[in-house]
Amino acid sequence: MTVQRASGRGPRRPLVIPIFIPHEGCPHDCIFCNQHSISGHLAPPVTAREVGEIIRTWLERSHPDRMGQVQVAFYGGSFSGLPIARQEELLGAVQPFLEEGRVQDIRLSTRPDYIDPERLDLLVRHRVGIIELGAQSCDDRVLRQAGRGHDAAAITLAVGLIKERDLRLGIQLMLGLPGDGCRSLRLTLETIIGLRPDFVRLYPVLVLRDSGLETLYHRGAYRPLSLGRAVVQAAVLKKRFDDEGIQVVRMGLQPTRALEQALVAGPYHPAFGELVDARLMLQRTRRALASVPATERVTLVIAARDVSIFRGQRRTNMLRLQALGLLERFNLHIDPDQPRYTLKVLQENSFGGDWAGDGEPVSEQSL
Ligand code: SF4
Repeated sequence: MTVQRASGRGPRRPLVIPIFIPHEGCPHDCIFCNQHSISGHLAPPVTAREVGEIIRTWLERSHPDRMGQVQVAFYGGSFSGLPIARQEELLGAVQPFLEEGRVQDIRLSTRPDYIDPERLDLLVRHRVGIIELGAQSCDDRVLRQAGRGHDAAAITLAVGLIKERDLRLGIQLMLGLPGDGCRSLRLTLETIIGLRPDFVRLYPVLVLRDSGLETLYHRGAYRPLSLGRAVVQAAVLKKRFDDEGIQVVRMGLQPTRALEQALVAGPYHPAFGELVDARLMLQRTRRALASVPATERVTLVIAARDVSIFRGQRRTNMLRLQALGLLERFNLHIDPDQPRYTLKVLQENSFGGDWAGDGEPVSEQSL
C-alpha cells in the first residue's frame, strides 16, 4: 500500500461551552448512574455568576474562527426537572450573551418524563434550541431493570412535544444495560429511527463506583459487555443511523480522570468512538475491494482526517488487511475534498497513471 496526500482542512465544529449540573433536579437513581464521578464535580451547585464567568472565559480563550457558532450546554442532570426558579436562574445567566450575539444557542439534557408543554414553554422562552433526551433504551423491560422510572411510551411522547416546538432533538442511548440483548437493541434502534432525532449519542454501559450496578457486578448478577462486543454493537447502530441520515455525534463517555477513577469494570476506552469508526472503515475497505476483480490494483480515496481510522489503532486494520492478502491490492490517496467516513474506489487505469488527472470514481459508498 502506498499513500498519496493533498492538503486541506474541513469546516470547524461549533464551540460547545459545557456547564455541569451533576444530579441536580433528579430524584431518581438509575442503576448505572454516578453523575458525580462522570462530571468530576462534588462542588456546590453552579451559580448564575459562575455560569457567566465560565462562558466569558471560554469566549476569551477560544479561537476567533469558532465565534459565530457558540453553544452553551447544560449537562449532567435532568435540567427540566429542576425547580422553575433554578432553571430561570441558569438560563437567565446565558441571556446577555445571546442578546450580544456572542452565544447562538443553548442545549441541555433531560429525562423524557420531564418534558411537558409547560416545561417546554419555559425553555423556548429562554431560547433553548437543542434538547437531548436520555432515552437509554426503548425496551420497557430494560428500562425497568435499569431503574429508569419511565417507560418507552414516555420517550415517544417527549419526542413528539419537542418536535412540535421545532427544537433540535438529540437522543442518548446505552449499550449493554442489564437485560439488554440483540432483540431489545434492535427494538431500540428501529424505534429511534422512527422518531427521527437530529442526532444520537451512544454510550456503552460502564460499572461505576457507588452505582447500583457496582453492587450487581460484585454479586455476579451483571456482566458488562467486553470492549470488542461494545465496539461491534456500536458499529451496527452507527452504520444504521448513518444510512438513515441520523448523525451519531458521540460514541463513548468523555474520558476524564474522575471517570477513570470511578471505573470499576466495563468496555472503557478513551478513544472508543475511534475504535468503532476504524471497524466500520475496515468493513468499507473490504467491501470496496470485493467489488472489483481480485487481479486489479485500485486506489482508495479517503479524507485526510480519516487516516488514523483507516489504519486502526496500533495498525490493527492494516494487519487484518495484510492477513487477508488485501494490502497489496490498493494505493491510498488522501483527498481534502473527500467527505469524512467515506471511501472512494478508483481503478488505476482510469487515471492513465497520473494522479492529477480526472479519474472517474467507479464506486462510492457512505459509512
Ligand atoms: S435520570 Fe439521569 S441523572 Fe438521574 S439518576 Fe438517572 S441517569 Fe442519573
